[in-house]
Amino acid sequence: MPSPERAGAGVLITYDDIHVQVDAGRSTLMRLGQAGVAPHALTVVLLTHLHSDHVTGLADLVLTRWVQDHLYHTGGLPLVAPAGRAETFLQRLLDTYEYDIEVRAQHVQEGGPQVEAHWFDVPDKPAVVWRSACGRVEIEAVRVRHEPVEEAVGYRITTPDGSVVVSGDTRVCDEVAELSAGADVLVHEACRSTALAEAVRGTRFETIFSYHADTVALGAMAQRVGVPHVVLTHLIPAPHTPGEEQEFTADLRRGGYDGQVTVGQDLATIEFGQEPASA
Ligand SMILES: [Zn+2]
Ligand SMILES: [Zn+2]
Repeated sequence: MPSPERAGAGVLITYDDIHVQVDAGRSTLMRLGQAGVAPHALTVVLLTHLHSDHVTGLADLVLTRWVQDHLYHTGGLPLVAPAGRAETFLQRLLDTYEYDIEVRAQHVQEGGPQVEAHWFDVPDKPAVVWRSACGRVEIEAVRVRHEPVEEAVGYRITTPDGSVVVSGDTRVCDEVAELSAGADVLVHEACRSTALAEAVRGTRFETIFSYHADTVALGAMAQRVGVPHVVLTHLIPAPHTPGEEQEFTADLRRGGYDGQVTVGQDLATIEFGQEPASA
């Protein structure tokens, strides 16, 4: 559900000058700008799956980076995504802008937009799918449970300062639990399925809730795994008041989680590692 104060799906992980963007939902480029990261500064974009709320901002990133390339000369945008449908999606996305690309290329651009694609077969166990050129940042992926969506993954981003897991869209599942073992922060999608079960019974929302992560079950999983900090994102339903935000935290507590919980707001920033920047 669009919420004016909330951009679409997206998480930015920064280590030194390496900027990893997971998903590119609505308004991603603008939020990145507010976070001080222009399209040319992005190191890599990871896609979790092809639901539109996770990719509607991708064209903005690809085309804006291309249009500005004569200024920054950063070249194509590195993109990491499951092989198969994402390849078709990207090709058609570029085809859609065929005339824009053609006319700009004739005018000022040198050639069309480039995407440096890293496709991978969805692994059933966490597997490395990308490393930064400097070797300091490594990214693993694993299949998550968002059926009927195929090729849905979560990612773990590991840096010398620590590890962040981003669930993508999924029910609470063993795959994300395994991926989260030893991680510093788990950024997980969140749906108040248990709390709203009666309200949505027999409606389409009941079906939608069935492939998202129930916040009570998420609390139980996070406690079992022992991840010290859970950041909730992709909030269903989007909270509009502090009280409604606290309900998400309360759900995790009902599930038994006693670690730190952050209910995500746009531009919320979590810092950790050896030398966190001063506030
Ligand atoms: Zn989805
Ligand atoms: Zn989604």
